[in-house]
Amino acid sequence: METTCEACSGTGKVRDSSGHIDICPSCLGLGTIKVEETEEQKREFAKRLKTRKPLVTATYILVIAMLLYYLIFILSDFTYHFSLTAFIIILIVGHSVSVGGYILYVLWISFRGSGNNLSI
Ligand SMILES: [Zn+2]
Repeated sequence: METTCEACSGTGKVRDSSGHIDICPSCLGLGTIKVEETEEQKREFAKRLKTRKPLVTATYILVIAMLLYYLIFILSDFTYHFSLTAFIIILIVGHSVSVGGYILYVLWISFRGSGNNLSI
């Protein structure tokens, strides 16, 4: 990462006490200085990525599972012609299973994530 040099405000030149213009000693005339990301910041970033990725995957899986569920549901309704009661029960069970599974998975990820944090 590069930031503007504070000693010369990005010009690369400084004026000494007698008025002479000189190359900035901080950035050697470049006007910018390289700031290395600390190991801490890199680790923090990697950790954030790692904890977010399974959530994204879980959301994709939920969406795909719901689409498959609706597809199978509609197809089987054509075949078996569910009664209204059966229709409602299947809808409610299907949604609670998929959403419940999603919530359990997310909880499991956060528990596993906090476990990792403790071990570091
Ligand atoms: Zn400078």
